[in-house]
Amino acid sequence: MRAGGSDPIREAARLLAERRNAVALTGAGISVESGIPSFRGAQGMWAKYDPMEYATLHAFMQHPRKVWEMLSEMVSVCGGAAPNAAHKGLAALEKLGVVRAVITQNVDGLHQAAGSRRVIEYHGNLDELICVYCWKRYLMRERWTPGAVPLCDCGEILKPNVVLFGESIPWLAQEQAEEEARTCGVLLVIGTSAQVSPACDIPGIAKDAGAAVVEINPEPTSLTASATDIHLRGSASDVIRHLLKELSPGDEASPSAPSGH
Ligand code: NAD
Ligand code: ZN
Repeated sequence: MRAGGSDPIREAARLLAERRNAVALTGAGISVESGIPSFRGAQGMWAKYDPMEYATLHAFMQHPRKVWEMLSEMVSVCGGAAPNAAHKGLAALEKLGVVRAVITQNVDGLHQAAGSRRVIEYHGNLDELICVYCWKRYLMRERWTPGAVPLCDCGEILKPNVVLFGESIPWLAQEQAEEEARTCGVLLVIGTSAQVSPACDIPGIAKDAGAAVVEINPEPTSLTASATDIHLRGSASDVIRHLLKELSPGDEASPSAPSGH
């Protein structure tokens, strides 16, 4: 996690402590350590399910039973997952007054489960099902059982309330995310390859408005050479644990929070 002569973790902690109005933008990578595979990479969902066949609104409208093969796997994997140290660390940073909101592309609900209070779900969530014909809504846990395709009272196949490719972002989430990006002092970009539009535009919005962009990811992404000011290379849980140590006052085992300049 070191680069050049300076310690990027300390540098990021100093920025967070000074500005105290950070916003996090999270992606599938933050939930990998909770056992939920991301989409890209050899272990990713796309290695098994072609996104054009399984993750577009068009595919769902044409072949909902086929798309539910992937959705069922997502629902059961996410249903059995618990928040990891990275989700909990972000909730702790919110309590410390360092992070004020989380914009997540994830649909797994793990930020809320970890205790984060202000979570903007940019791509919806898996808690709810909606009928694309009569618009009736249901709770996933009341309607879905493993191995079966959930049906509406009207007889049609229900869709989880997540944003598939070809769907727009829920307007309120879009508005709130852009407002957070425009007004934050630091944007922490965690575990996203930044390839899904329009979520990938959020770092640029923050940067153009004067925020520092701190990226937490074991790998470089398309943002690293363009928008990122500090790349903290490592797993989300490790890096956030280090940041918390730097920022938690009174923790004897850790250096004191950086202050001033
Ligand atoms: P992605 O799969 O495209 O990229 C994941 C990124 O996380 C990669 O850059 C990878 O290097 C990084 N990563 C892997 N392990 C990590 C770790 N331990 N700590 C930090 N970073 C790590 O994910 P994306 O950019 O979020 O795009 C995928 C889309 O699919 C999103 O829109 C999301 O809605 C959806 N999705 C959600 C979930 C979920 O809810 N948990 C899971 C899979 C996909
Ligand atoms: Zn219906």
